[in-house]
Amino acid sequence: MTDARPDLSKPVAACETLLDVDDIEVRYGAIAALKGISFTVGRGEVVALLGANGAGKTTTQKTVSGMMRPARGSITLGGRRIDGIPAHDLIRLGVCHVPEGRHVFPRMTVAENLEMGAFRFKSVDRKDIDRVLEMFPRLRERYKQPAGTLSGGEQQMLAIGRALMGKPELLLLDEPSMGLAPLIVAQIFDIVREINELGVTVLLVEQNAAQALSLADRGYVLETGEIVLQGTGPELLADDRVRAAYLGEEIVAG
Ligand code: ATP
Repeated sequence: MTDARPDLSKPVAACETLLDVDDIEVRYGAIAALKGISFTVGRGEVVALLGANGAGKTTTQKTVSGMMRPARGSITLGGRRIDGIPAHDLIRLGVCHVPEGRHVFPRMTVAENLEMGAFRFKSVDRKDIDRVLEMFPRLRERYKQPAGTLSGGEQQMLAIGRALMGKPELLLLDEPSMGLAPLIVAQIFDIVREINELGVTVLLVEQNAAQALSLADRGYVLETGEIVLQGTGPELLADDRVRAAYLGEEIVAG
């Protein structure tokens, strides 16, 4: 664990593995939610974390984003040790987290929510707002409305847009499709692809395994705090165990 105050002025080094999670154990008191998991996310990749409820996906993201500390193991970003660095400091290193449930500020307008996303910079760059509004035309239509009046899909777009205002190097998305209608889910996945094509590395937690694996370069399957399977998106999509457990397909033996 890193107890010394991190030097946030140094940029994250350019290396192929952006995120390296090595043997982390994360506990809620007596319960070990993660039992020594290891995985990597390459620069420019979309990596999906799959698993049933309670498998440890959210805990993994919370630990990478600095909301929780591992009891054991290490996390490095661009070769720099980051476990133990609190979330608000990690944002300065380019790690932005869109948690499950979106958490937009409901009484603030769309504009104010987006401006909050740029808090790590001295001032809000109008060009960044315009880029987000180009990506999410619905947010332009709702720009002066309180975020609490938006639909679930629009709030998800706002939560992602707000994270983009922080110019992330690594974007952590927790269940962005949760509770949304299929058409909106498809739009959200298209947006995630677009964000990735702009050069942002993405660690995606999803229950929607088929769409997540179609988008992801690679994926890891978690079961009760352990990684039980890993592979490229196409490999996992074709895997009988994934198809039976997460894609609802009946596999006929033989
Ligand atoms: P979901 O899809 O339901 O969000 P998940 O894969 O994200 O599931 P986690 O939320 O990371 O799973 O939970 C992993 C384990 O840790 C579960 O056994 C869960 O009950 C436990 N857990 C999660 N949060 C807490 C908490 N605040 N206190 C105690 N145990 C917790």
